[in-house]
Order: sequence, then C-alpha cells, then structure tokens
Amino acid sequence: MSFENSLSFARQLDFNDPLKRFRSHFYIPVKNAEEVIYFCGNSLGLQPKSARTYFEQELLDWEQLGVEGHFKARNPWMYYHHRFKKPLANIVGALPEEVAAMNQLSVNLHLMMISFYRPDRKRFKIIVEDSLFPSDRYAVQSQLRFHGFDPEEGLIELKPREGEYTLRTADILEEIEAHREELALIMLGGVNYYTGQLFDMARISEYGHRAGAFVGFDLAHAAGNVMLNLHDWNVDFAVWCSYKYLNSGPGGVAGAFVHSRHHHEELPRFNGWWGNEEESRFEMSREFRPAPGIDRWQLSNAPVFNMVAHAAALDLFEVAGMELLRQKSEKLTAYLEYLLEDAIAKGKLDARIITPSDPLQRGAQLSILTGANGKQLYNKLEAGNVIADWREPNVIRVAPVPLYNKFEEVYRFVEILSSDWESED
Ligand SMILES: *Cc1c(COP(=O)(O)O)cnc(C)c1O
Repeated sequence: MSFENSLSFARQLDFNDPLKRFRSHFYIPVKNAEEVIYFCGNSLGLQPKSARTYFEQELLDWEQLGVEGHFKARNPWMYYHHRFKKPLANIVGALPEEVAAMNQLSVNLHLMMISFYRPDRKRFKIIVEDSLFPSDRYAVQSQLRFHGFDPEEGLIELKPREGEYTLRTADILEEIEAHREELALIMLGGVNYYTGQLFDMARISEYGHRAGAFVGFDLAHAAGNVMLNLHDWNVDFAVWCSYKYLNSGPGGVAGAFVHSRHHHEELPRFNGWWGNEEESRFEMSREFRPAPGIDRWQLSNAPVFNMVAHAAALDLFEVAGMELLRQKSEKLTAYLEYLLEDAIAKGKLDARIITPSDPLQRGAQLSILTGANGKQLYNKLEAGNVIADWREPNVIRVAPVPLYNKFEEVYRFVEILSSDWESED
C-alpha cells in the first residue's frame, strides 16, 4: 500500500471506505464539546446505538410477562443464547456447535483447563508467553497448584530474544519440541495484549499436538479483530471476552470454543443445569444428560441482560462481515504505522513501534514504546482529546478499529503525538 502524509489523503481513504457508514451506528464519546479520537477499542469497545432498543425489549417483556418470559418473551430467555452460535462461529472460524456465549473469560479459561489440563507426574508443564495477561497468569498458576505442582517448575514462559520485543514463530515451535516429553498444555493469547503480536495459531497447534499437548488460546484481543479459523487449525479450545473488539459492553458475556473432535469424548468437566440437554432440562432429573457440542460446558441459565448488548453488537458484525473488517483494519493500522514511522524519521517523535510490521503477525493494535518522555507524550494525547491506553512502564497502546474509526482520526492522532513540545507547555 502506498500512502501519503496529508489530511486530504486520509480523507480520501475515508471517502472510499466501504464500511464508513458503520461509524454512525456507534456512540462516540464526547469530551471538551467534541468527539474524542477513540483508539481504545482493544480495551472497551464503543456502544452500538441499537443496544438500548435490545435492552428495552427485554425490560418490557420482563415487566409484562414475569417468569413466563422464559418461553413467551419475543426472544424467549430460555433460548436467548442460541442466537450467538452463528455470528460467533463466523467470527472465530468454527462450527456453530463448537461455540457458546457463556460466563466470563477467566471463568471459561478455568472451565476449559478443567477439561484440557490433565497433567500427570511426567507431563504437567504449560507453555505461556512471558508477557501473559495477569488474569491468565493467575489462572494457570492456580491450575498448577490445584493439581499439586509448583508454578515455578510447571510454567514455561516464552521470552523474546535479547534486544527483541516479540516472539519468533521458529523459537516458539522449537521450545515446544524441546519440552515434548513433559508438555501438557500450550495456552497463549491469540494476539498478545501488550505487544499486539498475532501468533501463528495453526502451526502452534500442529506442533503442540505432535508434542502430545493440548493447545488453547485466549482470544480476548483476537476475536473480532483478526481472521480466525479455529476449526481448521485444530485448536482444542479457546476463550474470549466480548467487551473489547466485540463492543458488547463492560463485563459482557464471554465466549468459548471446543473443537468438535472432543464432543464425543468423556472429558472431565464441571457441570451445571444449562449443560444438560435442552429437552430434558426441566425434568429436574438426578442424572446429568450432556447437551450436544460445547453446550454441555454451560453452567447457568443465560444472563439475558448481559447478552442484549452482545446481540446488538454481533448483529452489526454479521452485516459488516469479518473479511471487509479485516481488510479495512489492515489498512488503518498500516496507515498509522506509516505516519508514526514518518514522524520518527523526521525527528518529531522519540518512540518505536514494538508490534510486528508484518500484517500477518498483528491485528489492529500498535504498541508504541516511548523514550524518557513517555508520560509527557501520553499527556499530550489526553490534552488532544485522544483516548489511548498507557501501560507501565512506558508503552502506549493504540487500536484504530475498523467498525467506527476513520483514517482522518489516524492522521490527527499522529499529528497530536508528534506536535511541537514548546507549543504544548
Ligand atoms: C481482557 C483480558 C482478560 C480479562 O478477563 P475477564 O475474565 O474478562 O475479566 C483476560 N485475559 C486477556 C488476555 C485479556 O486481554
């Protein structure tokens, strides 16, 4: 792609953007009487305007029907979660029976590890990234302890090479081979939350299986961001949250994937009544009859009020489609990279991008490693009405997202970030 560093060029890209109409389906936060530049969709996606109508429908049905809403609501609550199968399957590249909207991400991660982390004395180690999200770290540490292992001994952390910031695929694969006798599980972020690196999930899955391990991914930063093909990649399990790129509201219902080849095995699992097959669920029988597919991992009845925003948001994804979204996303991020590198080359910005420049190894997000002036840069963004994300000790994470961000915002963002120091003080 060849770009130009000018406002008119950015506006031309917006003009030609086949997804430009989707911005008007979201509320853009306003600060100092103008719309902010919201580059934090990797942390909390914006509100679809339609969410309110979806909420109101369920409030009304609850108001008018009480308990009968389980079967008589316009969207019967008993089956409310069914509606997520198709859109989630499209987003993560799965069969509908392989995905479910349920619980929260960290809860799902534990439920999946109950099934897929089954260590013995010889094979008990877990491969993770060294820059693992804290909740995931606590989860794997506690799973190790739960099975009687010392996390110090049981966790293998993938570290970038000296002087590098991201992992090389070859190094990951080599590490898997090196531990083939003792490896029980590989659990990586599909896209690392800190560096923005997208991993080669197909190859990691292939090598992991060859080493005799299960392979699972935390897709918190990948779902709705990059193209996923969990079924074809043979991934054993995956989990994700819905409030980042999926725009489904704070603490929104999470998702999980279990590959169909595990649907007919009797894996260890923690059961609840929503995992019982639907036909006999209300017989209140003593004996658990597993529902087909991943639904047997469900525990509780559908949290409908937590699912309405998810429904509103995924309906937009169904219309836009992941392919067009990803195409625009690659272009937005490439334009951001181009402008940042230009500012760095001209000496207007003291920083470096640590996210890989290969589009196959990243999603929307760029992580900008700042120099000594990091906090000052971040303050400049705040003063310029930009919402971005500061990670200690010195990284600014920004994610222009294709559903509601514009090329013009990318242009203005870099202009603010690289503006003159003197004029700011
Ligand atoms: C956002 C995020 C979480 C958050 O977990 P919750 O259970 O939703 O609070 C966990 N892991 C990763 C990698 C994340 O990016």
